[in-house]
Amino acid sequence: MPNSASAAGRESSVSGTVAAFRLLGVPLRLHFTFILLAVFLIVLGLGGEQSLAMSAVYLAALFGSVLLHEVAHAAVSRRLGVRTLEIVMFPIGGVARLERNPKPQEEFWISLAGPFANLLIATTVLGWLYARGSLVPLPELWNATDANLLERIALGNLLLAAFNLLPAFPMDGGRILRSILATRMSEERATRIAARAGRFLAFGMGLYGLLSMQFLVVFVAFFVYLGAAQESAAAIGRALTQGIPVRDAMVTRFHTLHHGDTIAIAARLMLESSQQDFPVMHGGQVVGLLGRNSLLRAIATEGQETYVAGAMERDFPRLAPDTDLAEILPRMAHAGACALVMDEEALVGLLTAENLSEYLLLRRFGMTPGYTRPA
Ligand SMILES: [Zn+2]
Repeated sequence: MPNSASAAGRESSVSGTVAAFRLLGVPLRLHFTFILLAVFLIVLGLGGEQSLAMSAVYLAALFGSVLLHEVAHAAVSRRLGVRTLEIVMFPIGGVARLERNPKPQEEFWISLAGPFANLLIATTVLGWLYARGSLVPLPELWNATDANLLERIALGNLLLAAFNLLPAFPMDGGRILRSILATRMSEERATRIAARAGRFLAFGMGLYGLLSMQFLVVFVAFFVYLGAAQESAAAIGRALTQGIPVRDAMVTRFHTLHHGDTIAIAARLMLESSQQDFPVMHGGQVVGLLGRNSLLRAIATEGQETYVAGAMERDFPRLAPDTDLAEILPRMAHAGACALVMDEEALVGLLTAENLSEYLLLRRFGMTPGYTRPA
């Protein structure tokens, strides 16, 4: 297994998350909306005829079921040789960030594993109850009591499996659909179809939730919609950048600063050009990177006559010109991201989130990747 325990593994690429714990060596992070949902469910779960302790057991069991679902994904992808960098828990389930993009056939099995784990839990619990002859009929489950706790946990798992098998992004069923479609069309087209199904589903759910005044359904629909949009953007970006080196998309005409320049000079340069990030040079060598935010902070705290050397980032992100664009796309996806493209110690270009999105736009309009710039 490649030992690319990269810096990306330490810091999440998804903002608004808190680190929780490690699961089979995979860092698990909770998205803040997941915590909101947990609080909401706890408040909601306090009613009914069940005791407080059993309400807690019920919620813990469902949370455990969702975790097992994610563990199943991670375990199968590990078997197929795809390492999971992190799992982020969203209200509608977890999203596993993988080290590399799985091939359609791998994606099929990885995606199926999660819902399968929930089906396995449900059938095990129901089978055990059936063997004991103590199975409570379905209509009685509407009234939550301590006595039907196990049936409700089984039902919860059936619902988790069914929901995740919906053939629409960002659900596992959407990935399964895409992996099947991708065997007979391009991955990009397959992704568009699965994402369109996701938006359609979200719209239907949202409408139903609003008409029936079910807040939770609207909430879930909102996340399905966001997830579908994000997934399709990420997958289309991947399809458009795979196999293309950083050098094809980088900015090659840019200004640099000298490490003895003042912040005032940097600010003027930022106004005169449209550049926001400046490599800082010292005797032909790059010594740092001055970004827009660092520049503004320096003006506010130190004044405009201080030197850029004091405000610049010395530990800046660097990329090799031959790095695959698809590989670094998640790290460059947030606004304001900038990396220096270095061939050994020589600065050859800049890669920013903005020019990357321009590049993606050009690719979407059919521009070929290997084009050479006029000298
Ligand atoms: Zn899943």
